[in-house]
Amino acid sequence: MFDLIDQISPLTDQRDRESLDISLSRVLMALLKPASVSLYMVMGDGNERRWLPQIVLRQGQEVEVNDAMHADFRRLDRVEEDSPRQRCLQVNLPVVIENAEGEAYCLTCLPLLTDHDMGETGVVEIRSMVRLDAQALATIERVLRIYRNMHSMFMYSERDALTGLLNRKSFEETFYRSLRDDKGLSADVALTGTPGDDDLPRRRARVGEQFWLAMVDVDHFKQVNDQFGHQIGDEVLILVGRILKNTFRGYDRVYRFGGEEFVVLLRCPDHADALQTTERFRQKMEQYRFPQVGRITVSAGLSSILAGDAPDVVCNRADQAVYYAKRNGRNRVCSYDELVQKGLLQTDIRDGGVELF
Ligand code: GH3
Ligand code: MG
Ligand code: MG
Repeated sequence: MFDLIDQISPLTDQRDRESLDISLSRVLMALLKPASVSLYMVMGDGNERRWLPQIVLRQGQEVEVNDAMHADFRRLDRVEEDSPRQRCLQVNLPVVIENAEGEAYCLTCLPLLTDHDMGETGVVEIRSMVRLDAQALATIERVLRIYRNMHSMFMYSERDALTGLLNRKSFEETFYRSLRDDKGLSADVALTGTPGDDDLPRRRARVGEQFWLAMVDVDHFKQVNDQFGHQIGDEVLILVGRILKNTFRGYDRVYRFGGEEFVVLLRCPDHADALQTTERFRQKMEQYRFPQVGRITVSAGLSSILAGDAPDVVCNRADQAVYYAKRNGRNRVCSYDELVQKGLLQTDIRDGGVELF
């Protein structure tokens, strides 16, 4: 009994979402001693959803952590395929496959998260030499219940209550966690990986693309509130959040920074692609007709992310581009890098100045 509590208690002692996921895989490994424990999350939008093996822990090996922002999306398994994971999600119950994939393993998939509203769907996949008995399944279910309680606490603190997007508080943390430090890791090396600068092991797929930050500000939003009321204003913000999520890619991260300001961390092959993606969002907004309110536009500022950039430095650059867009007619996307190049904005002193991504 004490043993069991000791084994499970690390789950309740984690400081963020990622360490909670790692802790869950370790707890299940310690309890069941299977060949492997993996946490698969669904990535992408309605058109194309894929499985990200967010955490993979194999017997006797270091835990492997894959960040959505670094995943090679096209190489991930599609969700549509008839897989045990997909069936598990559909029936919302454990799915057990004996002699899986022609191996001697028994594959057990259990629903991990099915809260579509919070935008997170996932399963736990356990490979074991023998079939897990009813008691083992009941134990896992109880462990997952604790996990889900902890998870919803993190979601509550990391998300914006109105739109369900990530909030400003989580921006800084995910900025460092997602973009820092694993410089030079190519997609092939990703499978062997190197440890990060804290005690969490990390192995990330890198796909040789760069990172950008887009700052989005709704135009004349005060007028929406003044004319239609705060409640309609809130509904507009919810819809803007939805359009953002649907326009950017599954591995990009969308935050509500407060008020009518949003931030997107984008992964793109080059500047033209980052600009085009942000421009596509601007156009979608321009074309969308909001119930009661009608047409609403946005101004956006784009900045590249360079080595050693602190989050507030990048935000400040993107912000300058937003102000430029506001001063020059609104309903437009401006790139800080382009404005500096054309001499339309003064450049900041970029400490270090080495291209990282
Ligand atoms: P600009 O085009 O220059 O950005 O003009 P603006 O009116 O959008 O900008 P301003 O900063 O003057 O006004 C932002 C408004 O956003 C003021 C504030 O009342 C409103 N706002 C901030 N947070 C919320 C919210 O959570 N809900 C609603 N409905 N309104 C909000
Ligand atoms: Mg504003
Ligand atoms: Mg505004």
